[in-house]
Amino acid sequence: MQVTRELFNDVMVPNYNPSEVIPVRGQGSRVWDQNDKEYIDFAGGIAVNCLGHCHPALVSALKEQGEKIWHLSNVMTNEPALRLAKKMTDATFADKVYFANSGAEANEAALKLARRFALDVYGDDKTQIIAFNKGFHGRTFFTVTVGGQAAYSDGFGPKPAAIDHCDYNDLAAFEKLISDKTCAVMMEPLQGEGGIISPNNEFMQGVRALCDKHNALLIFDEVQTGVGRTGALYAYQDLDVTPDILTTAKALGGGFPIGAMITTTAIAQHLKVGTHGSTYGGNPLACAVAEAAFDTVNTADVLAGVKQREQLFRDGLNAINAKFDVFSEVRGKGLLLGAVLNHKFEGRARDFLVASTKHGLMNLVAGTNVVRFTPSLVIPIEDINEGLARFEQAVADVVNG
Ligand SMILES: *Cc1c(COP(=O)(O)O)cnc(C)c1O
Repeated sequence: MQVTRELFNDVMVPNYNPSEVIPVRGQGSRVWDQNDKEYIDFAGGIAVNCLGHCHPALVSALKEQGEKIWHLSNVMTNEPALRLAKKMTDATFADKVYFANSGAEANEAALKLARRFALDVYGDDKTQIIAFNKGFHGRTFFTVTVGGQAAYSDGFGPKPAAIDHCDYNDLAAFEKLISDKTCAVMMEPLQGEGGIISPNNEFMQGVRALCDKHNALLIFDEVQTGVGRTGALYAYQDLDVTPDILTTAKALGGGFPIGAMITTTAIAQHLKVGTHGSTYGGNPLACAVAEAAFDTVNTADVLAGVKQREQLFRDGLNAINAKFDVFSEVRGKGLLLGAVLNHKFEGRARDFLVASTKHGLMNLVAGTNVVRFTPSLVIPIEDINEGLARFEQAVADVVNG
């Protein structure tokens, strides 16, 4: 069968508009398409491929578990899930883990747990969920409603209720919104999809203090920031603020679908037997791969390497900007970076993406005004240099029309 981009239009639901390029294989931070054209991967499958493509530790975990047992359902537990959960709780504030298959599902579990906890402990009135404009929490109807982009939640009929939003980094607005009726606050400790927006310290401390004052659970959505992305295992560990519930997915499986919600024993006990579940969640194949990814990322070497690579990206992007004057700033943390277009290129992030693809580079946008970089956490230095050289050519193309 001849597989072409045209076939996509014939057989796929039109909710995506993928690139003309169809990659067929990858190794480390390089990818090859159907015509054997090579690309440097600065996108990492949207912050998922934390160890690049076909990392030997992940391939060997996949093969080994693939020849043992793939799936059981939660009627029985399994060794990889328990090993991974033990490692996650040892490395974080949490005591308990719930496994899901995606970020949205992990967030769905977190939100349902928060509602159930408030109902059990404080009664019927404590249902309000506060989240932030430009936040992103997934595409289920609950998570898209909690997310702060109406474009994603409008047009599907009546929404889940008692969900309010205010601006990120606006502590005064948040203080006005929160009350004893607030059940939970969901936030990213660095907004990804919304444009690579870091929280300021006073805001983070203030949110935590107000959650404590009003007995509201603080949920950190670390689906994009988690598993080494910002240079800490989880971003909260660098922020001096500990959430009550944390969700993680994307990089957790290094490319194999898995998500998790982690929390304390006191909170977790409210998801009693039968209150929530998933057929695939915590499946041995996914957990075996995730365990290998987690072991590989959670080392001082890899985490320190993220900070070194961040500096190389910043230096390279600043040098490109000195030549072409296209960015107003480079922001973000670790290998979750955004180059913000200046007023001359306002709204044209997609043009930079298209030009990059032409020059053999995969990157991303975050909204219409930010070019986003989320490469492998172990991307070789020479691939960073080569990718930045290709990006410079792409920038030159856009600037010269
Ligand atoms: C990607 C993302 C999600 C959604 O994850 P899926 O696996 O696509 O469901 C949720 N929250 C954040 C912060 C994300 O970046």
